This record gives sequence, C-alpha cells and structure tokens, in this order.
Amino acid sequence: MLLVLLLLSGLSGAADDQGCRRCEHRGVVPCTNHDKNLTAAESEVLFCSRAAACEACGGALLVDCARCEGGPENAAVEQRRASIRDWLASTPIEARLGRPLPRIETEHFRLVVETGDVREGRKKVDQHSLIHAIAGDVEAVARGLDEHFVVVDGDYFTKMQMWIWGEPESHKEVMLELIGSGSSGDFKMLGRAPKFSVWTEPNLFDRVDTIRALFAHNAAHMLLSNLERELWFGDLGGGWLDAGVGHYYEYELFGRSTQFCIEEATLSETYADGVWRAAIRKRLDKEDRPQLPPLLDRNTGAMKQSDQALCWSFYEWLVLHHAAKLRPMLDDLKQKMAARDVLKTHLGLSVLEIDAAWRAWVAASYPLKGDKLRGR
Ligand SMILES: [Zn+2]
Ligand SMILES: [Zn+2]
Ligand SMILES: [Zn+2]
Ligand SMILES: [Zn+2]
Repeated sequence: MLLVLLLLSGLSGAADDQGCRRCEHRGVVPCTNHDKNLTAAESEVLFCSRAAACEACGGALLVDCARCEGGPENAAVEQRRASIRDWLASTPIEARLGRPLPRIETEHFRLVVETGDVREGRKKVDQHSLIHAIAGDVEAVARGLDEHFVVVDGDYFTKMQMWIWGEPESHKEVMLELIGSGSSGDFKMLGRAPKFSVWTEPNLFDRVDTIRALFAHNAAHMLLSNLERELWFGDLGGGWLDAGVGHYYEYELFGRSTQFCIEEATLSETYADGVWRAAIRKRLDKEDRPQLPPLLDRNTGAMKQSDQALCWSFYEWLVLHHAAKLRPMLDDLKQKMAARDVLKTHLGLSVLEIDAAWRAWVAASYPLKGDKLRGR
C-alpha cells in the first residue's frame, strides 16, 4: 500500500510540475564542461571569461534539461546568459590590447591573469586556477576591510583593477596606455580608479605564493585608498595606517607578510622572514624609547621593513581593541587631520599613552618563539 501511494504521488508530481525528475523539476541541469575542482570558485565570482566561453552553457554553468520541455529556472538562466554576454563584450582593456584576456569580475575587483602555468613547489598551476585563487584572496581581504571599517554599499567609488602578465611587453603596454607610466616594475595607482599591474618577473613574481601575497597585499592598499574618499594618504600623514592595513590582511591570509611598498627596495632580505610577532616582541623588549611618534610622521614608501612590521602590529592592536574607532579615524585621516589628533580624539589618550598601551599588549601577547598570539 505504501509503495503504491509513493508511486502515485511521484506520478502526480511529475504531471503537475514542469520539468522532470532528471532535472529535479528545475528545467536545467549542471553543465559538465567545467573543471570540477573549480565548481564552488566559479559560483563565488560574478563573471569569469573562461566559464563564459563555454558553448554549451554560455557561462551560466547550467544547461537546459534535454529530457523535458523545461521548468521554472529556464528563464532566469537565459537572463544570466544574456548578462554574461554583455559583460564579455564590454572590455576596454581587451580593445586596447587587441586580444581576448583571461578575466574575472568579483564584487570589488576586475582581474586579469594572463600568466600561463605558474610554479607552486614542484607542480604547476594553470592560470585559470590561479585567477580563481587570487579572486578568493582579494575578496577575503575586502571582507576583512568591510568588517573592520564597517563598509556599506557606495563607500567604494569603483572596482579595483588588478592585472598580471606573462610578458614584460604586455605590462609595459598597459602601463603606458592605461596608467601613463614608463615603470617596468610592479606598479599601482591609488585613490581614484585604483589600478595595479605587474608581470611574472623571474625570481620576484613567478611563483603562486608570491603572486597571491602580492595581490592580497596590494588589494588592501587599493581598497583603503578608494574608501570614503578617493585619496591615498600614505604620504599625507596616514602612512602608519596604510602600511598596517597593507600587511595585516596578507598576514591574516597566509600567516606571514613578505610584500613591501618601499621606494628603496631591498630585494635581498625580508624582515624576520615575514613572520613577525617574536621579532617585534624582542625588539620592543629591548627598546625603551617610544616607537609610535616617529612612525606617525613617516610616509609608507619611506619606511624600513621593520617600521612597516611595527605598523602592522599597531594595526593588529587597533583591530583587537579599538575596532569601532577604525572607521571614524579613517574618515578624519581622509580629511587630512593630523595623525596625533586623530588618535587622541578617538582613543582619548595621548600618543605616548597609546604607545605604552600597545607595547604592554605586545609584551603580554606576542611569544618569544613561534608566532602564536596569546588568547587567540
Ligand atoms: Zn528535465
Ligand atoms: Zn573560471
Ligand atoms: Zn558550460
Ligand atoms: Zn604595502
């Protein structure tokens, strides 16, 4: 009796709804032309040019069910295909370079990753996997900033554009055409319409880990410079916050920070190999004089690596103890209020008192060995 009832209900379901059992009454089924390892990653981005090139689904990742006349989801999927076609067609950068580019658009970023295969230890990672890894990283950075600076819709003026090229010629071309600079190294424009370009320069940015760290690091600088007001304050009294933010989200993602935006670049060494808590603890244990006052006067690009590490630590302290003050402090810095006044106003302490509070926390929370933060 039970069996018969079940069969009957199954039959009547099929007759009432559109679609069929094969498509679970949706009218559409997953497209099988895509890398299964990237299924989740594809659905986390708004658009991917590689997915969009699929002739079967047009990037919607769903195709019409072949077993039935269709169901409730066909119209929405057709709409999605149309919006993907529009996205694929509007490409100022492709028009400039005269060729289709591997691109992804996310909530905060427009990315181009035209690297070919890239080394990761002994294996190679293809550029489609790499662009999705980068998309995941930079959006994680954006989520961090969104949380700490209480970002709401409209606080950013535009999407950040970030590109990496497999050839120095492509980098040079976009630098001249789109950024207006003759620089051959990695380069970014901050504040208004932030853009970043780099190529897979040997020994610098030719490995998956360094490329991902580079993108995460610079994504944070770009977002900060475009938030609230289109202004980079790294050389207007906000270098300490700019440097802190640049390193903090990279460190949160990868457990270290190896990227530095310093004019006098020292390629040969990385401060404490990018793992900082023990090094900072030992340094501050030894040095009595206040660290914060000179840091507040320094521009991002004029700092030493060890200065930037201190800015990272100070920002970590702010995030953990004064997160609610970050946005008001950012807003005042963007109005070009002096850093001392900003800190004093929002933390209610003098710069020397703030220096002492931060350092007391470092002494209590950073280890002398390893990198574990006490209480976390
Ligand atoms: Zn069906
Ligand atoms: Zn994709
Ligand atoms: Zn497909
Ligand atoms: Zn930086």
